[in-house]
Order: sequence, then structure tokens, then C-alpha cells
Amino acid sequence: MDVPVERVLVAVRVRPLSDKENKKNAFSVVQALPHEPKVLSVAGKGYAFDHIFTDICEQASVYEESVRPLVKKFCAGFNCAVITYGHTGTGKTYTIGTDSKLYEDDSAGIISRVVKDILSGNNTMDSKVMVEISFMEIYNEEVYDLLTCQPTKLIVQVFSVQSLKRMQVTTYEEVLHHLEFGGANRHTRATALNAHSSRSHAIFTVYYHQIFGDHTVQSRLDLVDLAGSEGVRHTGSRGVALNEAKNINTGLLHLRNVISVLSKNTEDHIPYRSSTLTTVLKDSLSRESCVTVIVCISPSNLDITKTVTTLQFAEEAKKVMSKPKVKEI
Ligand code: ADP
Repeated sequence: MDVPVERVLVAVRVRPLSDKENKKNAFSVVQALPHEPKVLSVAGKGYAFDHIFTDICEQASVYEESVRPLVKKFCAGFNCAVITYGHTGTGKTYTIGTDSKLYEDDSAGIISRVVKDILSGNNTMDSKVMVEISFMEIYNEEVYDLLTCQPTKLIVQVFSVQSLKRMQVTTYEEVLHHLEFGGANRHTRATALNAHSSRSHAIFTVYYHQIFGDHTVQSRLDLVDLAGSEGVRHTGSRGVALNEAKNINTGLLHLRNVISVLSKNTEDHIPYRSSTLTTVLKDSLSRESCVTVIVCISPSNLDITKTVTTLQFAEEAKKVMSKPKVKEI
């Protein structure tokens, strides 16, 4: 059954002002416009997106509006990806939910909700289902398996990651265990390299196998927590950090180019091979896939330059047709 879903959807999510920002008397420069639901006003300029989630939007509505339709498509046999993009501290991890604090209750992020939805069996048709997961990260263009006892460096060959461990799961608790295990591995690896986990891309993948008598339909859903998008210029990096920042910039730039080709729906060449990130995500970024990008931003006047850079980047990935007319605020 075909579920009508837009193939590339770009949403923006604004996090609330933090206590630290409130203490500094920071204020919000971001405003949703009641008469133009797809336009976000930032310091008086309008940016158009498919969805806008303001600082009062809860995790449940972000999931229901921007991810749940995609899960239905995924369970119908299509490859999909949900990607969070933005500077460090804007809510990417909170939104996608790779952090162990976010597995339960109202603050549960996308991964928890996806897994619950899939394992509930509500999306399954007349078939037997087998679900597997994997968890990897990309740091400095290298891929690490987070589900092995020591984070293992893996080889990427012609669009597949060799020997990436996949775990079959039947319960939500099993998935949480693997997520926690992988998260701990991620922090250990980052600490050992004197790095920060926000400088790597984390990819949690769900594989869905539906067995219909004599044939199997397989699909994958990549849930991606991207590295912080602060560029080389902003970090003022040197040495190892500069190399890290350059690799992050390159990966993000190529990802934007791939998404841009997909969103234009043209026959243009899709440059998957230009970075490890796009190589690894090739299957879920194909012309038949559905992709949701959630762009995370801070509302604070103190972050305005970074926020504008993020929004411009996202606009380049997909030009949403709307009339961004706004009044100065
Ligand atoms: P990032 O992954 O982009 O570095 P985080 O997800 O770690 O950012 O978010 C930074 C902080 O802001 C965390 O303390 C997180 O709990 C909080 N936060 C982010 N988004 C929200 C939100 N929508 N509602 C409440 N708190 C949020």
C-alpha cells in the first residue's frame, strides 16, 4: 500500500531559551507567524520550511507530524532517513533521542518513538516481520561500530559498511539496551581521542524484513544525529580540531548537495561518493526514499549569526515555496 508522503521534507525546530541564556538576559529573535504557518521570522527576515516547530512544541508532536508518516512508508518497504542538523547545543540529540536520558516518558526522542511504533506491529500487513538494528558513528571520515565491545573501525566499500554488527530485536527494552551500550561506547571513544561526541555523526539504523510466503521485502530507516555544524571559522580550530572541523564541513556540504538534488526531483547525478556520510547513507537517500531533515536552532539573540547560517544552509537543501513576508521585530 502506498502512503502519500513528501519525499524530502525540511522542518525547523526552535528549542526554548536555556536557564543560562535567561540568566544572561538573552531574548528570542525567532517568531512563528500565525498567518503564515510555513514561515519563520528570524530577526525580521522570513525563512520558509515544510514544518515549523516552535519552542513550545513537544516531542510527541514533532514525531507525529514529521516522522510518523515516514515510519508508515518505511514499513511499506521504502528506505527512509530522519536527520537532525544544527549547531552544537541546539537540540539535535534531544530531538533524535540518542541520549540515554531521553528514552522514556514525554521527553522520549524520535528513536524511542520509532522503535515503539514499529515493534507494536500496527504498521504490519499480512506478513511475518523481523527487525534488526545497528549503531555506528562517523568521526574524521572513519566509520566505527558502536555495538561491538570496543568501538571498531570499519571499512566502507562501494556503499556498504563491511562487518557492521546488526542485532535482531523483538522488544523495546532490547533496543534501549543496545542504544545505551552504543552511547557509552561513543563517549568512551571520544574521550580516548580527546574529542567530543558532538564532533561525530551518529547513525542508528532500523532494518525491517517482511516475509510474505515466498518473498521478503526489506527496508532501512536511518536515524541520524549529525555532528555540530559550527564551521572552521566559528571554532577557530587548529591541528586535530581543524581537521575534524574540515571533515565535518565537507560531510555536511555533500549531504546538503545530495538532499538538494533529491528535493528538486531532477535526473541530475547524485554525488554520494564525495564523503563517508553520503556514501553510508546512500540507500536511504535514493530517489525512491523519503527523507525528513529537522533543522535545530537556538532562539537566542546571542546565537543569531549561527542561526542565520543554519537557516541559509537548510534553505539551500530545499527551496520551500512560500512567501516569506514578515514584519520587522
Ligand atoms: P545538540 O545535540 O544539538 O548539541 P542537545 O540536544 O544536547 O543539543 O540540546 C542542548 C540542551 O538543550 C540539552 O540540555 C537539551 O535537553 C536542551 N533542549 C534542546 N531542545 C530542547 C527542547 N525542545 N525542549 C527542552 N529542552 C531542549
